Amino acid sequence: MKKKLAAIAMATAMAASLAACSSKPAETTAAAEENEETTAEAAEGSEAAEAGDSAFAGKTLVMSTNAEFAPYEYHDGNDIVGIDVDIANAICEDMGASLEITDVAFDSIIPEVQSGKADFAAAGMTVTEDRQTQVDFSDTYATGVQSVIVTEDSDIKSLDDLKGKQIGVQQGTTGDLYSTDDFGEESVQRFSKGADAVQALSTGKIDAVIIDNKPAQVFVDENDGLKLLETPYAEEEYAIAVKKGNTELLDAINASIANLEESGKLDEIVAKYITAE
Ligand code: GLN
Repeated sequence: MKKKLAAIAMATAMAASLAACSSKPAETTAAAEENEETTAEAAEGSEAAEAGDSAFAGKTLVMSTNAEFAPYEYHDGNDIVGIDVDIANAICEDMGASLEITDVAFDSIIPEVQSGKADFAAAGMTVTEDRQTQVDFSDTYATGVQSVIVTEDSDIKSLDDLKGKQIGVQQGTTGDLYSTDDFGEESVQRFSKGADAVQALSTGKIDAVIIDNKPAQVFVDENDGLKLLETPYAEEEYAIAVKKGNTELLDAINASIANLEESGKLDEIVAKYITAE
């Protein structure tokens, strides 16, 4: 599980560097000192937003997402709802802007942001080194863990047991990237939706699904005969993506994320969608 450890090490390093940019009061003193300037900027940003003179006031911001990822973004009737949607709405509210959501395949999200079709992406998107070369990421607002779903009667008990098995993933996600690296192309079956991978698992076409823990928990709750392996596969940080160089929007988003964390609203949003851990 070389890659898994590398992923965890990377996520930890990233968490440390992100912590240095965060304005959360609970950070270590060293981080807090380095942080004073950022915090001041964040405060200025929020004052500007409150005063209604943000550069985005009156504008419509387009958010790209893939609404197949409950509880972060999913369809509820004709609406797209979820943690990311509430966060994006709160961010737009801070800026005096309106929110429009476009629902695309997960691997089209970054191209939408790069081309300017979307202003930002909120999609439970993990910060990776590769993606950092394509878009700029906000401060992190959540932690994700890649998890393994198997059938209740599965002989797969550990990550090592996945060798030589057929693993279902959602195309283009970190679950796809890591399992392809660790177990080889021939072991990975890609689906456009996590739900389709889970369906293939339930009907015995594949042996396991690797997907982020929160959607994984929703799939296990909603489908009989499935369980999560207790061993997590890789830990990650979620952030919002903007077009490279769009610091004006990124600063405004970071100021809002800081507001949401400090006011406790972020916790409220998460609690609304995740009732039991
Ligand atoms: N966190 C994973 C990634 O960024 C999956 C996100 C998703 O499927 N929406 O690749």
